Amino acid sequence: MTDNEATDLPELPGDWQRALAVVAHPDDLEYGCAAAVASWTDAGKEVGYLLVTRGEAGIDTIAPDVCAPLREREQRASAAAVGVTTVEFLDHRDGVIEYGTALRRDIAAAIRRHRPELVVTLNHRDGWGDGPGAPRNTPDHVAVGRAVLDAASDAGNRWIFPELADQGLAPWDGVRWVAVAASGFPTHAVDAGPGLERAIESLLCHRAYIEALTDRKPEEYVREFVTETATRSAARFGGRPAVTFEVFPR
Ligand SMILES: [Zn+2]
Repeated sequence: MTDNEATDLPELPGDWQRALAVVAHPDDLEYGCAAAVASWTDAGKEVGYLLVTRGEAGIDTIAPDVCAPLREREQRASAAAVGVTTVEFLDHRDGVIEYGTALRRDIAAAIRRHRPELVVTLNHRDGWGDGPGAPRNTPDHVAVGRAVLDAASDAGNRWIFPELADQGLAPWDGVRWVAVAASGFPTHAVDAGPGLERAIESLLCHRAYIEALTDRKPEEYVREFVTETATRSAARFGGRPAVTFEVFPR
């Protein structure tokens, strides 16, 4: 056991009302943190999803023009399974998302529109895990995660992207935390127990993607993945199943 594993994870702060989750692809939130989203919407909090792409390059056997609307439908169903009805798409190109000012501007615009206190994204680090030799993360996740961390500040500065104010999007400096799901360096956790069944249902909505990914029965694969992920950090969270986040306070 490393020192990191020995440290208890505090609960993610709960004194907020609006969250915006920004990720690269349909399925990123379902693999990352849907059980936490379910418990937030249960508590009456508002959660919106912003997808930077439609995941059109995600299924080898389905051409992008057919895949994009299919994955959009699956994403909307996934969101609904955990109580989220606001799902937006930015239409950057799947697989070749570029980190840069265009991406930061698009995300800052969404943050100004939604005015969240909590912004959620997926692992922005180069690898999955915390050690040498950790499996490499994908460039889309790295680009979007980094841009989200930056855009949380950009959204509050009237002199960065002044054209947004001309479009009626006033600065929003109210983001208090950016919470990064599936990070190898978690700092906080949310109890995954109450939302676990809906998290399984939510990931299962990406059926076309999962059927192309594995020969296993989707129901079995999804239940095992979500349950194992939630159990992995239980020892650091009082024995409870956990969705973990690396939290960057602002
Ligand atoms: Zn992804």
